[in-house]
Amino acid sequence: MTAPEPVCRYVYDLGALAEHVGKVVAALPERCRMFYAMKANSAEPVLATLAPLAAGFEVASGGELAKARAVAPDGEVLFGGPAKTPGEIEQALTAGVTRLHVESVLELHRISEAATRLGRTAAVLLRVNLAGPFPKATLAMAGRPTQFGIDEARLPEAVRAAVELPGVAFAGFHLHSLSNNLSPEAHLAMLDLYRRKITSWEEAFGVRCEVVNVGGGIGVNYADLTAQFDWTRFTDGLARLVGTFPAHWREIDFECGRFLVAACGSYLTEVLDVKRNHGVHYVLVRGGTHHFRLPVSWQHSHPFGVRHVEAWPATLPRPGVRGEPVTVVGELCTPKDVLARDVVVDEVRAGDVLEFRHAGAYGWEISHHDFLSHPHPEHVYR
Ligand SMILES: *Cc1c(COP(=O)(O)O)cnc(C)c1O
Repeated sequence: MTAPEPVCRYVYDLGALAEHVGKVVAALPERCRMFYAMKANSAEPVLATLAPLAAGFEVASGGELAKARAVAPDGEVLFGGPAKTPGEIEQALTAGVTRLHVESVLELHRISEAATRLGRTAAVLLRVNLAGPFPKATLAMAGRPTQFGIDEARLPEAVRAAVELPGVAFAGFHLHSLSNNLSPEAHLAMLDLYRRKITSWEEAFGVRCEVVNVGGGIGVNYADLTAQFDWTRFTDGLARLVGTFPAHWREIDFECGRFLVAACGSYLTEVLDVKRNHGVHYVLVRGGTHHFRLPVSWQHSHPFGVRHVEAWPATLPRPGVRGEPVTVVGELCTPKDVLARDVVVDEVRAGDVLEFRHAGAYGWEISHHDFLSHPHPEHVYR
């Protein structure tokens, strides 16, 4: 008799995903469009669910572009990424992407050269790394030194190149400055800062912006799943704010990842053992950060629930913990393999199953799947 394999799976609720994203898109005011930044989760069923709901996909590699084309051959695609190869640029132009988001002056030249050679004109947005300061969020991509975008101070040179180079057509600016912002007010204040910045650039450089891309960065509250970003409050404020935008900004693009897909995914994993070492209760699961690296990457304790399983072999002891803090760790031989720390549980025993919620974004996608060569989790879409 072979032993049954312990539970270890990702489960995605595609119906809930479609409902959530449908509502998010429906609440957007005029001129605003929602693209899906597929690096958050590029699984085919997720992309196929989102293709008819989102305005299109934001991709940042040739591989992501191919995934976008596979589910939506004629859909809109925005091509970004901080280090595009000449080959990827050519692939993007040949595939007829809607726009490229440009990260440097050299990249503008590369795009112009390739486009000229292919007999095309590439519509581009210049990605700007603003001087800041910005609202508080978990990750900041701008307002401090990062590898992203064009330094605001170098913008005159970049705009000149975008206007003068023969293979590119300047369409506007792209600003993606932070990630996991939980405050609608702070997000609106940031967009208002974008408005003032872009208006001043239009004046200073004598250009007209048709498209403004305000990036993603709408957050998910992992610390309290019941208190999520208030999209209605945000879009109410957004409608008022967009009313103050110049009329020639015909399109305002959002490209969100986390906020669209986080809630649709759960990571379920069976407790293999429970033990106490040096005063700490450890819950050891079949799985870990090689499947779900998000908590260790963000240094947070990921929320989970316990599904009690009654079946247990009568011949074996069944360790457990009741009403005390536990630390949930995986099967990897490293002390960094921690999913949750010091969380008080009613009861958890060997053989129970833990469900990590809001695991649909930056979960499986960002994990080092083959470290230690354990089997991969199942992926169930329903
Ligand atoms: C990652 C990324 C996004 C999506 O960010 P979220 O925080 O998941 O919404 C959007 N735009 C760019 C350029 C990105 O790198």
